[in-house]
This record gives sequence, structure tokens and C-alpha cells, in this order.
Amino acid sequence: MSTASRPARSRVAHELKLRTVTVRAVTDLTAHLRRVTLTGAALEDFASVGPTDHIKLFLADPSTGLVHLPDGNGGVTPPGGASVRRDMTPRAFRPDSASGGPELDLDVVVHEQADTPDGPLAVWIDTVRPGDSVSFVGPRGSKLVPEGYARAVVAADETALPSVARWLELLDPTMDVLVLAEVQGPGEEAYLDGLRPGVEVRWLHRGDAAPGASSVLAEAFAELGAIDADTFVWVGGEATSLVPVRRHLRRDLGLPAAQAEVQGYWRRGVGDYDHHAPIDPSDPD
Ligand SMILES: Cc1cc2nc3c(=O)[nH]c(=O)nc-3n(C[C@H](O)[C@H](O)[C@H](O)COP(=O)(O)OP(=O)(O)OC[C@H]3O[C@@H](n4cnc5c(N)ncnc54)[C@H](O)[C@@H]3O)c2cc1C
Repeated sequence: MSTASRPARSRVAHELKLRTVTVRAVTDLTAHLRRVTLTGAALEDFASVGPTDHIKLFLADPSTGLVHLPDGNGGVTPPGGASVRRDMTPRAFRPDSASGGPELDLDVVVHEQADTPDGPLAVWIDTVRPGDSVSFVGPRGSKLVPEGYARAVVAADETALPSVARWLELLDPTMDVLVLAEVQGPGEEAYLDGLRPGVEVRWLHRGDAAPGASSVLAEAFAELGAIDADTFVWVGGEATSLVPVRRHLRRDLGLPAAQAEVQGYWRRGVGDYDHHAPIDPSDPD
């Protein structure tokens, strides 16, 4: 099937509502990924069926320590200050968990930020404890996995590894999947264990380079060479470092936007990065 004849990824809309839940557990998964398991009746009709879904977590304003919640629609600035929110991937949802009631896992990067103050999510993941309360909205909708491809290349840094895990679970089991994963070092490599039989994972160590300041993903794509029309590509991670990756896929290899999606999840030196902004302003979609 040619790329032009493949349907775009289907979308499913979800009711957008504010949910307030309780932290049931906090678990270190790898050297830099910590899982927060949430529970509560507010999760009962939660739904997330796409690999790139995200929720918006309401966090304390670092300057006041206060959490400002929006109204029930999730969109209105409340009295007393603007809401502070950060995007997170709903990693796993269990409507009937073994511990009782619904559970939602969020896997958060514990990032060391030497040059700027910690952001609200970094503060939260350092201090969150079982019994804490937290609120979120979303996902607003789910973009389903694409159909009609024989293979996929899925690439990410640590922030998008939860999405990669969801891609591995949701992609058709007959597809061959290659993962390119940028991480600081071997301490993260257990994260994708056991998720998909036969998957090839290339762990790319950036070593002493700061997060977002490494070219290991761009180099790995250059080494792959040509990518045929039967291979879907998804890349998520630090926006500036993904500009050369996107240029390679879209300009050098000529892959259309529907076949090669490149998504900025954060931008080095920028707080509250807007992931809807084009990662390459000189060549927006
Ligand atoms: C769709 C989507 C899904 C996401 N899913 C996840 C997820 O499941 N888990 C997850 O951990 N993150 C995820 N992210 C990324 C997360 O939202 C950002 O990293 C967020 O900016 C972190 O917020 P903060 O409050 O710590 O820092 P901010 O206040 O946003 O930024 C403060 C400083 O920290 C830097 N910074 C931000 N993130 C990092 C990082 N990871 N490493 C080093 N420096 C950083 C910024 O460049 C800035 O200098 C997702 C982002 C998107 C768009």
C-alpha cells in the first residue's frame, strides 16, 4: 500500500473532566524513571486508548506552594492565580486493580537540572508520597495507532519512553518494531523489558552530555539509512535535538508527515514547553 492511500491515524474523543485522585504508591523503576500509581473513584470512567495520549497534571506553583485548580471543564483560569500544569503520559490504566479499585500509572523522569531551577513536575516527583492528593484533566482524545504498515521505528528520550511502552503494547503484533532509545546510561535499560516479544531495542547512551544536548538519536537515524513506505516512524523527546532528526526524515528521506511523526515533549531551557508549537519554526507542518 502506498503512503498516500493509507488512512490517517483515527481519533477518539473523551469527555474532558477534572479528576482528583490519591497517590497509592511511588516506585523507582530505573535510575531516572519513577512510577506514581494513582487511585480513586474519579478514575472509574477514565479512558486512554492511544500511544501518544497525555493528561495535564495540576501542580503546585513553585513560588507559592499552592495548587490552583481550574473549573470542572479544565479550561478556565481560577481566581487566585493561573493553574500550573504539565503534560504526562498515562502509562497504564487498570480499571479493576489487584489492590482494589481503578489504578493509573504515571512514569516520571527524575531529571537533574544544574543550570535552571527545578520545574513544578521535578519538584513534585521529588516530594510525592502515598496518600497525597493530585488532580488532572485529560486525555481530551486518543490518536490510535496507524494501520497498514508492516514495520515501525519508534524513537524517544526518557520523557517519551512511557509512550514507547504504549506503542509496543498497542502496535499490531505482526509488525516488526525497532526502538531507538536515548538514555543517559545502562541504568534505564530495564524499562522496556518484557513488553513485546521480538522487539529490537537499541539503547543509545548520551553519557555525560546533558539531557537534550546529545545527537545520538540523529546519528542513529542517519545510520539506519533509507526507510521504505511500509515503515511508520514516531519520534518523541527534547524538541531542539529532534530538529535534525525531523529534517533527515522529512527532507533527506522525503517521508510525508503522516508516515514520520516527530513530537517535541520538552525543550531545553524552556519551562512549560508548548508541545503544539512546531519544533522547527523554519518548516512547520
Ligand atoms: C505529550 C507529552 C507527554 C509527556 N509524557 C511524559 C511522561 O510520561 N513522563 C515525563 O517525565 N515527562 C513527560 N513529558 C515531558 C514533561 O511534560 C516535560 O519534561 C515537562 O516540561 C517537565 O516539567 P517540569 O515542571 O519538570 O519542568 P518545566 O517547568 O517545564 O521546565 C523547567 C526546566 O527544566 C527543563 N526540563 C524539563 N523537562 C526536562 C527533562 N525531562 N530533563 C531535563 N530537563 C528538563 C526545562 O528545559 C527547563 O529548563 C511529556 C510531554 C508531552 C508533551
